[in-house]
Amino acid sequence: MNQQIKKDAVKDYMVRATAAEGSVRAFAVTSVQMTEQARLYHHMSPVISAALGRLLAAGAMMGAMMKGSEDLLTLQIMSDGPAKGLVVTADASGHVKGYPKVADVDLPANAMGKLDVGTAVGGGILRVIRDMGLKEPYIGTTQLQTGEIAEDLTYYFASSEQTPSSVGLGVLVDTDCSIRQAGGFILQLMPQAGDEVIAQLEKNISGLRPVTDMLEQGLTPENLLEELLKGLHVEIIDRMPVAFACGCSKERVQRALAGISQKDLQSMVDDGEPIEIKCQFCNTAYSFDVEELKNMLK
Ligand SMILES: [Zn+2]
Repeated sequence: MNQQIKKDAVKDYMVRATAAEGSVRAFAVTSVQMTEQARLYHHMSPVISAALGRLLAAGAMMGAMMKGSEDLLTLQIMSDGPAKGLVVTADASGHVKGYPKVADVDLPANAMGKLDVGTAVGGGILRVIRDMGLKEPYIGTTQLQTGEIAEDLTYYFASSEQTPSSVGLGVLVDTDCSIRQAGGFILQLMPQAGDEVIAQLEKNISGLRPVTDMLEQGLTPENLLEELLKGLHVEIIDRMPVAFACGCSKERVQRALAGISQKDLQSMVDDGEPIEIKCQFCNTAYSFDVEELKNMLK
């Protein structure tokens, strides 16, 4: 038996669906591997793994709401809790990446015995930026409601996009701090949704177990949507692999470095020491020797 294949049997993927003749659109994702990848890149504590993992799952699904292959979604949380903030970006093809401002926050469990994401994040704002290649990106900013992320996104969709939504996100961290389960769903009501559709959805959602419980019981993203959209004739439209993917390279970092002031570059050259710059998203270190820095001076 090949252990590796067995261990990696379930790759992260997302499903997109509609229900009730198109009056509900739905997304669900399993994102264990991208969350584990983020944990390893950033050396995240369990509560930060849960916080960033929830935002990564949301990013994968919200990225897929965009149409163009060049479109880029950014989710930024800026907050006053010990985590200080989180950043996730995603494209429409399942490439997601992210980082926490502070990776090693350690907090006691909350009253329900769960990782206390709400306290780690605290109060602040959620900003959603959609860059669709137009002159100005679309930017929506809302106040964080609980810092638990799913509620904050639900509020964002309702108040900034006028789309009634239900968002569920969950990350289960194992005793060795690795990621055991991660994933979530987004359901959205389209304007044509009738009262009976809304009533059925409310009924389905009211009895819902936490996302991590459903994933732990072995429910796939398809199963999640079947349960959430029970009685509403769910139709799965597509299934797409999703993964943590960082497109950084020395050339890209060099281009960013060339954007700093000539004065700062000159002082780096004068220091006579090579410098090292780390990619925020994947922590890959790129070093530039004095010759390379000199060449960047105009
Ligand atoms: Zn990178």
